[in-house]
Amino acid sequence: MAKKHPIYQRKIRMGMVGGGYGAFIGDVHRRAANLDGQIECVAGAFDIDPKKGKQFGVEELYLDPSRSYGSFSEMLKAEKALPEDKRIDFVTIVTPNFVHFPVAKAALEAGFHVMCEKPMTLDVKEAKALQKIVKKTGKVFALNHNYTGYPMVKLAKDMVKKGDLGKILKIIVQYPQAWLIRPIEKTGQQQASWRVDPKRSGAAGCMGDIGTHAENLAEYITGLRIVEICGDLTAFVAGRKLDDDGNCLIHFEKGAKGILHASQVSAGHENDLAIWVYGENGSLEWHQEHPNQLMVKPVDAPIQIWSRGNGYVGAKSALAAKGTRLPSGHPEAFFEAFANNYMGFVERIRACESKSKLAADAMDVPDVDDGVRGMQFIETVVKSSKAGAKWTKFPK
Ligand code: NAD
Repeated sequence: MAKKHPIYQRKIRMGMVGGGYGAFIGDVHRRAANLDGQIECVAGAFDIDPKKGKQFGVEELYLDPSRSYGSFSEMLKAEKALPEDKRIDFVTIVTPNFVHFPVAKAALEAGFHVMCEKPMTLDVKEAKALQKIVKKTGKVFALNHNYTGYPMVKLAKDMVKKGDLGKILKIIVQYPQAWLIRPIEKTGQQQASWRVDPKRSGAAGCMGDIGTHAENLAEYITGLRIVEICGDLTAFVAGRKLDDDGNCLIHFEKGAKGILHASQVSAGHENDLAIWVYGENGSLEWHQEHPNQLMVKPVDAPIQIWSRGNGYVGAKSALAAKGTRLPSGHPEAFFEAFANNYMGFVERIRACESKSKLAADAMDVPDVDDGVRGMQFIETVVKSSKAGAKWTKFPK
């Protein structure tokens, strides 16, 4: 019945904020959103500079010039005034962190669904306000923690959930990079410039930028929530106001212990997010740079390498199978993980607009509650570090 609703008969229309000339993640979003043919980018306010933004939409994306806007407020006003069968359905926010909240709030209140980049807001206060707005408007809000979009991460989650590892004892999650080991912000490097500025990045640098991915990944796979953190943040590069490196000891629920470290000054590491989960009956290991494999190490059997795209993966995890587009041995990675988040997002938009129940086999996608936890994680680590690496409770 629901499938006959008009929202199931057409593509879902996207308006993007950010992602103009020289931007990093906006381009990844546009490609990933396109991957399953369910979404089209029809509008945008792509740049902090109105003129450049308008030009980008027309010259690079061939948009209708009347829908390549100079600002997000202009876009929301004009799109709202368009007939229902023309206007955008949702807004994707791919701006620096300090612009997430104002755009998300305005878009939701104007009646649009929202896909937002992480970290969700500038601070916990904004995150909590956004949580309320999402609830009040009833619109779909998804947060792009893309690393939980990988099929083998979904497999890992299902293995833990099904008890294959037994009780979880310990979690180690790392996210080392090297790209900020020199003060490239002083050269005007676009991505570095705002990330080292507390007004545009938030209370943490590296820990907010990539530590939150590690936090989200650990909680997603294990289903265990962080309850207490002992954090130690450092700005190794002279003159930086925000951390470029951080180490945390973590207490999870149910007695599990953990170590999380994130760094942007670790020479030799490119985008080395990896996780080890140790249980009473075995452990598992996943590396973002080799995302098609999951290592499983049972206590009483040889080490196994599970490989994406095989029937045995699907037999263990329906979402891992659903989020797989190519047969085994044909590598999938970054774009596909983003596309899996868009898959879950679109399924929710269609269910919401047709007022039908979300299908039981819908793809999962991080939401506003995950965003609040991410902001609380940042706040807790910063607080702990400022107090001299004191054990600090994660807010309830
Ligand atoms: P970037 O500096 O490369 O791009 C930001 C873009 O936003 C630029 O085009 C800029 O002109 C535009 N912009 C700024 N203010 C604007 C405004 N008011 N209206 C319209 N456009 C505006 O930044 P980036 O590296 O692409 O990061 C963007 C966001 O994505 C950040 O929140 C970051 O944390 C997140 N990110 C996520 C991932 C991931 O893997 N999930 C990776 C990189 C970045």
